[in-house]
Amino acid sequence: MKRYSAFAIAREALRYHTGWERAWASPEPKKKYDVIIIGAGGHGLATAYYLGKNFGITNVAVLEKGWLGGGNTGRNTTIIRSNYLQDPSAAIYEKARSLYETLSQDLNYNIMYSPRGVIMLAQTEHEVRGYQRTAHANALQGVTTEFISPARVKEIVPIINLDGPRYPVLGGLWQARGGTARHDAVAWGYARACSDMGMHILQKCEVTGITRDGGKVTGVSTNRGDIACDKLGVVVAGHSGHLADMAGFRLPIESVALQALVSEPIKPCMDCVVMANTVHGYMSQSDKGEMVIGGGTDGYNNFTQRGSFHHVEETVRALIETFPMVSRLKMLRQWGGIVDVTGDRSPIISKTPVDGMFINCGWGTGGFKAIPGSGWGFAEMIAKGHSPLTDAFGLDRFHQGRFIDESVAAGVAH
Ligand SMILES: Cc1cc2nc3c(=O)[nH]c(=O)nc-3n(C[C@H](O)[C@H](O)[C@H](O)COP(=O)(O)OP(=O)(O)OC[C@H]3O[C@@H](n4cnc5c(N)ncnc54)[C@H](O)[C@@H]3O)c2cc1C
Repeated sequence: MKRYSAFAIAREALRYHTGWERAWASPEPKKKYDVIIIGAGGHGLATAYYLGKNFGITNVAVLEKGWLGGGNTGRNTTIIRSNYLQDPSAAIYEKARSLYETLSQDLNYNIMYSPRGVIMLAQTEHEVRGYQRTAHANALQGVTTEFISPARVKEIVPIINLDGPRYPVLGGLWQARGGTARHDAVAWGYARACSDMGMHILQKCEVTGITRDGGKVTGVSTNRGDIACDKLGVVVAGHSGHLADMAGFRLPIESVALQALVSEPIKPCMDCVVMANTVHGYMSQSDKGEMVIGGGTDGYNNFTQRGSFHHVEETVRALIETFPMVSRLKMLRQWGGIVDVTGDRSPIISKTPVDGMFINCGWGTGGFKAIPGSGWGFAEMIAKGHSPLTDAFGLDRFHQGRFIDESVAAGVAH
């Protein structure tokens, strides 16, 4: 595949853009692959990419029931940060954040990584203590964060109201190298690189069954026929429970809708990401000028992949005290995705009771930021049986009571 470059843009401009190749191929399924990945979201595609790049395994198919990146990967609010409390979380999220720094060059695809900084506001004494503790933990983990004063918050975010009255800003946890990236581009960049390595990305290919022989996986049934494989990776976010059911086991996971919205575009007014977790709201400004706004998950389990009016009201109401300017904005669009939430708010990256079948799920409301690190670790697990990056996230932790409690870092925030 030809590389994208300034020279290529100039060349194509001269010939009216007639020479661009398709970014990825649309092949017919083969009878058998070494590895099948179910789910062409960011995590599935990144897993395929690092299988090829780090382990030379390229006889791989990524099966997607819709269009690639059309699940949560293309629906999230693109926040990237690694300021988690527990060591295994900080390790995988920081690995991901550091891979994001150079992902555009690595994939030869502009993913528009923007390390504009992320503040998590402390608006109660409890949050002040919690975030100061996280800042200390991050210092030990080698993750650069700092707890900042209200005056410094105001300096970074001039449009903020510090004074409450219900929830005054008492400080914030600041990660200067956190930020955002273009979510579709992350999926497209990985897909193009996978296709370039000869992997098959099969869209509109829904898995309807998982075939086994004597406790070992042998392949999948799909709406495009049966396909055999030696190893199977399942990376389907909110549909993980269904896929586990097809393979005959249960997951400690819930599926629930998470919604977001954007305002009309306005002039640049905020050049970082601000999260207000006490009131369940967060905001950043897109390159187009829209204010990108999100809140908490729906309060009940559901598979509704769309927005609802009560959510707009709840989320906007939560933000107005801290950002009075929001009351004068018109809202342009809203949408939803189906996220998969575990009891300890940490992902499951694990072998399963079925030999040769691996699962990567439970990223809940915050898995976009983890895509490169998760793909890196899951690829290693599939290729070698385990990965130091993912060892702590096994399914066995729920039997052993060895939870990785991230309810403060991930319960509401993304
Ligand atoms: C509104 C919203 C805001 C969010 N904001 C953030 C944020 O700011 N920062 C952050 O880090 N995270 C955020 N997230 C979470 C993040 O989007 C997800 O954790 C992440 O995208 C999960 O990626 P994935 O690849 O695992 O899943 P997905 O992108 O959902 O991909 C799974 C794919 O599997 C496919 N699939 C399902 N069943 C089958 C089947 N039977 N056969 C074949 N294919 C199947 C689906 O069609 C889907 O494309 C947000 C999520 C939402 C919904």
